[in-house]
Amino acid sequence: MRFLTFSDGGADKVGLLIPEGILDLAAAWSDADAGDAPSTLLEVIDGGDHALSVVRRLVEHKSPRRIVPAATVQLRAPIPRPRKNIFCIGKNYLDHVNEMSGDVPEHPVVFSKPPTAVIGPEMEIDAHRSVTEQLDYEGELAVVIGKRAKSVPKERAYDYVFGYTALNDVTARDKQRIHGQWLLGKAFDTFCPMGPVVVHKGALREPHRLELRTRVNGEVRQSANTSQMIFDVPTLIATITAGTTLEPGDIIATGTPSGVGKGFKPPRFLHPGDVVEVEIEGIGLLRNRVR
Ligand code: MG
Repeated sequence: MRFLTFSDGGADKVGLLIPEGILDLAAAWSDADAGDAPSTLLEVIDGGDHALSVVRRLVEHKSPRRIVPAATVQLRAPIPRPRKNIFCIGKNYLDHVNEMSGDVPEHPVVFSKPPTAVIGPEMEIDAHRSVTEQLDYEGELAVVIGKRAKSVPKERAYDYVFGYTALNDVTARDKQRIHGQWLLGKAFDTFCPMGPVVVHKGALREPHRLELRTRVNGEVRQSANTSQMIFDVPTLIATITAGTTLEPGDIIATGTPSGVGKGFKPPRFLHPGDVVEVEIEGIGLLRNRVR
C-alpha cells in the first residue's frame, strides 16, 4: 500500500496510489459505511490494524468514481504537518563521514528538523539567499512510526514501523558550522521535502536493500544502498525509544550517503533554479526545484 496526501483544488486529502490513479480514501470510506473516515494519513496510522484492514477492503472493492487521475492533482508531503520534530540521524554512512572529515560515531548522532520545514513533491526549496551561501542536499530513507514505542528492543523494532518514505535533509552548511550545532542550519522553512508516498512496510519488507540516488539537474551526485548504513533501523528505534517515546506518525530520517555538495572539492552547493531529485527503490522520486 502506497499512501499519499493530495489536493484537487480544495483541502488536502489522504489517498492511496493504485495502478488506476489515486483512490480517495475518505470518500471510499464513507461509501463503505466503515465508520469515521480518516481525513489525514496521520489518522489512518492512528487507526492501527483496523484502519489498514478497512483500506485493504476499499482497494478490493474500489469504485471507479472514487479514483482520481494522478495527473490532475497536486501532491503534498504524505504527512504535511508532522505532530513533532522529525528525528534525524547524522553520520550514518561511512563514505559520508569520510567526505565530511568527521569521526565515525560509536553511537547514533541524533538531531531534528521542525514540522514547519516540511514541503511536498514539486514544491520549491527556498534558497534563503540572505541567510546562507552554502545550500546543500542530503537524500535519505525515512521511517514512519506506526504505534507508540517506548523501550523497544532491536528484535521487535519493525513491529513499530508503519512504513517508509524519501526525504531531503536540506542543509545550510555555513549555519550548521558557525552555530556549533545542527538544528538551526537544517531547520529553515522548506528544508524538509518529503514523499512522494509512504510505502507501508508490508510492501517494502527489507528497508536495508534499497538503492538510493540523488541527482542535481539530472547529474547523479549520491548513489548508494541502504545496506551501507552504520546503524540500522532497529538500532535507531531502540536508541531513540530507550528514553524518548515515539508516537504514531513520528518520522526518523536515517542519514545520507556520500556525494553531498560539501563533499566535493571545490564544494558544489545548490543555487536558485537547480532541481534536486531523491529517488529510492520501491518508494519513488522526490523532486524539488530551488527558488
Ligand atoms: Mg541528514
